[in-house]
Amino acid sequence: MAKKPAKSEEPEIEPVRYGEAEGGGCDHSGCTNTEAYRCLYRDRRAVDCSWVACTEHLRVVDGRGYCMRHAGVVDVLLMARRQGTEMLPPDLDDRCASLVRAVASDLNEPVLERLVRWGDTSTSIINDPSIRYTRSDRIHRDPGHWERVWGLATRTGILLRVGVRVEDPRPETVILTAGVTHLVATIPPWIQRHLKGDPAQGSQSELVERLAFQQQLLQALDEHVEKYGVTFPRSLLSAHN
Ligand SMILES: [Zn+2]
Ligand SMILES: [Zn+2]
Repeated sequence: MAKKPAKSEEPEIEPVRYGEAEGGGCDHSGCTNTEAYRCLYRDRRAVDCSWVACTEHLRVVDGRGYCMRHAGVVDVLLMARRQGTEMLPPDLDDRCASLVRAVASDLNEPVLERLVRWGDTSTSIINDPSIRYTRSDRIHRDPGHWERVWGLATRTGILLRVGVRVEDPRPETVILTAGVTHLVATIPPWIQRHLKGDPAQGSQSELVERLAFQQQLLQALDEHVEKYGVTFPRSLLSAHN
């Protein structure tokens, strides 16, 4: 079990940040340590590593904690930088994260345009380009998932939280959420085609497919906002009507 450093009067030199402590414990095979930290690796497309490790199975590089695999990657990046070459962190190469990224990049502009329209002078827009992994939550029966989030907030809270996510048990299904409501959960047409073994349609019709899918998601979002608005208390009260 990793021990926390004992408190003393002397200033302790600690790593800048190990990462967020997570429930569920270390991901290292066979390790039972429950105190664990998230790997701080973020690839060039702003996809975060999903790995969580205890202090024994985490390696600190340059004051930041990483899983063993990414500590090695960061070593190489730092070495390259010292030699005068700036390299971008290589892709995580996770299928679910890639699908979230592809759909979110098509949605980004139209969603932002809507948030501007739906907001007013008292609201601000949340636009976090990173694709984060959230571990499964047994209490809320929420499986582990990758997600990209936009939102509309006031100083007192979030009025509207829009998410695109892909969950571990359903790696082909894209889910659009508004708050805790799942507006759409569907397999994008290009993946359906791939699953059926149909040949590629050519870039022109793939673009048409993507646009149609984008419209399907945006329409669901528009309908939700039309019905419930973007004020948090009202949507909460009318959710069961
Ligand atoms: Zn461990
Ligand atoms: Zn990692």
